[in-house]
Order: sequence, then structure tokens, then C-alpha cells
Amino acid sequence: MAAQFSTAVVERKYVWAPGLFTLAIRAPEVKPFEPGQFLQLALLLDGEQIKRPYSVASPHGDVIEFFIVMVENGRLTPHLWKLEAGDKVEVYNRAAGGFTLKHCPDAKCLWLLATGTGIAPYIAMLRTEAPWQRYEKIVFVHGVRQGSDLAYQSELSEFRQRYDNRLSYVPVVSREDVPGTLKGRITHCLRNGGIENLCGTNLTPDTACVMMCGNPDMLDETEALLNDRGLKRHKTKEPGHIVVERYW
Ligand SMILES: Cc1cc2nc3c(=O)[nH]c(=O)nc-3n(C[C@H](O)[C@H](O)[C@H](O)COP(=O)(O)OP(=O)(O)OC[C@H]3O[C@@H](n4cnc5c(N)ncnc54)[C@H](O)[C@@H]3O)c2cc1C
Repeated sequence: MAAQFSTAVVERKYVWAPGLFTLAIRAPEVKPFEPGQFLQLALLLDGEQIKRPYSVASPHGDVIEFFIVMVENGRLTPHLWKLEAGDKVEVYNRAAGGFTLKHCPDAKCLWLLATGTGIAPYIAMLRTEAPWQRYEKIVFVHGVRQGSDLAYQSELSEFRQRYDNRLSYVPVVSREDVPGTLKGRITHCLRNGGIENLCGTNLTPDTACVMMCGNPDMLDETEALLNDRGLKRHKTKEPGHIVVERYW
């Protein structure tokens, strides 16, 4: 079948906080993809097809999940936010993107850094055996503005139990004090050692593979900070430590 859009049906919608939601769609036409890849979702609005890329938050299957935030005045997301079970949405049947474990170097510890909905590709990966077989330890750092944006916590805690505490979950909240979380931005909590203290692991070039996804400011600032520590972008021909996905 040629690459094209097909019609998918919303199977369920889960609202984490106002405007922050998981959309599970039945999309049997989507070809198999690697966890971490993205698909285009589209709606016909005023006669025009508006499409945007979204990381798939689940491994391949007939029903696939997306973790989406509504952007005020955005073209597409205010309409995706209104979708309910049974509604239709267009989905491209071929995934794309190289933000996958195949494109990551081997290491002792896999660091998964994300802001906001940037955790979507990690949820897809952690639901498969691949990262657990390949990395001894996994540190999942989620930077958000409000505590209510800390989605997928119970699933992460199940992973922790299932895999003998090999997962460290580090929530970082910038705009309010939330017990059990670090206060500030990811870069701030890396600089002051808060993240490493909480997970009991040092982020060093000889032990770390770092995936980063989400807000471009976080990506740029974190990469600069990691460069200072001797970590560099991973390339097939020039092995390094850092693999990045930019959302905008
Ligand atoms: C590879 C890739 C994967 C992506 N995966 C996801 C995903 O899993 N979940 C998701 O919510 N978005 C994801 N995005 C962003 C998504 O494609 C859209 O840009 C976003 O949903 C806004 O669309 P819109 O038409 O409503 O806004 P537009 O009218 O296109 O406005 C775009 C502006 O919205 C802001 N914005 C875009 N994405 C976000 C975001 N996630 N959080 C906060 N502000 C944002 C930026 O300021 C951007 O300039 C991804 C982008 C890329 C490139």
C-alpha cells in the first residue's frame, strides 16, 4: 500500500489536565514502526487539510496512542482537543523519524530527558523490552510547569516495580512547589546536581546515553551543559552520547 492518509477512529481519550490529553486511535492501516518514531495526524478544517507530526506514545498495534497538549491559538491542537471516542481523525500510514533506540549508542545508563509532551516517545520505548535488555539503568526526567502535567506516573511506577527499580523517575516542576519533585527547570536541576542526587547516578560521558525531546530551549541549553561535561551528539560514523528530537 502506498504511503497515504487513512481515516482512524478515536478509541478513547484520557484527560490528564485541561488541554493535556492522551488520544488512542484505532488505525489498522498504519504500517509497523519503531518506538520513538512519529506520525502525521490531520483534520480537514474549512476545506483545508491541517497536518502535524506527533510522536507515537505506544508501540505499533491496531490501536496507537498520542500524548498531546493543546496550544492556545494553535491551528490543529484546539480541534484535536475536542475529539471524543468515536470521532474520526486522519493519520498518515507511514511513520518517520530517527529518534529511536536503534540510533542510540550503548551505555550503562539511558537518560530520557523531556519537557511536556516530549515523554511520548519514551513511553512507547519503555513499553517494549528493548531498553530494559540493553541498559542497566534508566533515568526518566520529566520537566513540566505544573504538578498536574506529570502524566503517566502510575505506569512509570509499574515499570519501576516490574524491572527491579532499574528506573529512576525524576519529576521537575518549574512553576509551583510540589512535594516529591524538584523545583525549577531541567537545566537548573542538572547544574545544581539535584537530578543526579535524586536518582543516585552521575551523568558522565563514560556511562551515559542521553535522549532529549521537547521544548527547543531546554534542548539547546541542556546540550550546551552536557557538551561542557564532555558529552557530544551521537552520529553513526562518530559515536557520541546525545540523541535529540525537537518539537518546534
Ligand atoms: C517530530 C515531532 C513530534 C512531535 N510530537 C508531539 C507530541 O507527541 N505531542 C505534542 O503535543 N506535540 C508534538 N509535536 C508538536 C506538533 O507537531 C505541533 O507543532 C503542535 O501540536 C502544535 O500544533 P498546532 O497546529 O496546534 O500549533 P501551530 O499553529 O502549528 O503552532 C506551533 C507553535 O506551537 C508551540 N508548540 C508546538 N508543540 C508544542 C508542544 N508539544 N508543547 C507546547 N507548545 C508547543 C510552539 O510555539 C510552536 O511554534 C511534535 C513535533 C515534531 C516535529
